[in-house]
Amino acid sequence: MNGAITAKKGRALQSWVDDMQKRYGYAQQFIPQSEVSQWIDSPRFVAMSHDPRSGHLHPLKYILGLAKAAESLGVTICENTAASAITPATATTDAIVHARDGGVRAKHILLAGNVYLDDVAPQLKPRIMPVGTYIVASAPIEHNRAQRLIPSRAAICDTDFVLDYFRLSADDRMIFGGRVSYSAVTPMNLAPSMRERMLAVFPQLDDVPIEHAWGGFVDITMNRAPDFGRAESLGKNVYYLQGFSGHGLALTGLAGKLVAEAIAGNAERFDTFAAIKHHNFPGGRLLRTPALVAAMAWYRLRDRL
Ligand SMILES: Cc1cc2nc3c(=O)[nH]c(=O)nc-3n(C[C@H](O)[C@H](O)[C@H](O)COP(=O)(O)OP(=O)(O)OC[C@H]3O[C@@H](n4cnc5c(N)ncnc54)[C@H](O)[C@@H]3O)c2cc1C
Repeated sequence: MNGAITAKKGRALQSWVDDMQKRYGYAQQFIPQSEVSQWIDSPRFVAMSHDPRSGHLHPLKYILGLAKAAESLGVTICENTAASAITPATATTDAIVHARDGGVRAKHILLAGNVYLDDVAPQLKPRIMPVGTYIVASAPIEHNRAQRLIPSRAAICDTDFVLDYFRLSADDRMIFGGRVSYSAVTPMNLAPSMRERMLAVFPQLDDVPIEHAWGGFVDITMNRAPDFGRAESLGKNVYYLQGFSGHGLALTGLAGKLVAEAIAGNAERFDTFAAIKHHNFPGGRLLRTPALVAAMAWYRLRDRL
């Protein structure tokens, strides 16, 4: 679900819902202010939208399931083995992916390292920026009380550029995320400041402690569209997937499928994504982060209008 926190943002949400229907035939329910309280027990929202075809999941269970499925098909997963460099393929030899204690010969390479690839593929770096995003989990809330907060148990985010996102866990904790850091520095007092944001949405949780706080980096692109392609300067058959811009949970699965199709000889769907134009972040190596921090300060200000 999406939630709008001002009347103006509510009108923008309604026109987005209408537009999705008109342009793509994708139906969602727009929820006017008079019905918001049926969906959430919060004073914060003046309008909402509900997408009955979306859902949420436990990401660690998902990744463990993927690993199990891959291993059952014969894949070897080498944990704690960072790739450090690539020797490109030649006319007669395969590429080599180097790690600290050895290497792997490869006919095809897929770079899918988020913001962590560093010197393995420096040519990809200027098109993405690391943005920190953070989550807290409350202590478990009594079941009926939790149920009243979000009766549908949908995952919800607001429509701000620097957004809050939250849902109930299976064991009735409030999982609350937001509070991005564009400077790549973890915010001070993370748990208390996230708690403040949570209480702005659910003031009635004032007596519920925060038990866990964590965060990580997402790789954003200038246009927030994913950046897929072939890293030809690293040799033939080197693909990359990056720039999921905070929306990678479902899209990474699809992206993996598209690369698999391309490697198997049908690159049509992969090339549709690869055709999206991307630009480098301005400011070069030294000024990229300050430039982004300044730009995001402007977006934060705009969220308040
Ligand atoms: C706090 C938080 C909340 C989020 N919430 C949502 C959400 O609600 N919905 C959503 O859709 N997305 C969400 N995301 C974003 C989502 O997690 C990312 O978009 C997604 O994980 C990107 O997938 P990826 O495979 O590109 O990168 P990652 O999942 O980061 O995986 C990259 C992998 O590459 C490995 N790697 C890196 N460098 C090397 C190297 N040199 N050699 C070998 N391996 C390497 C890393 O160890 C890692 O395993 C959230 C992210 C964070 C941090």
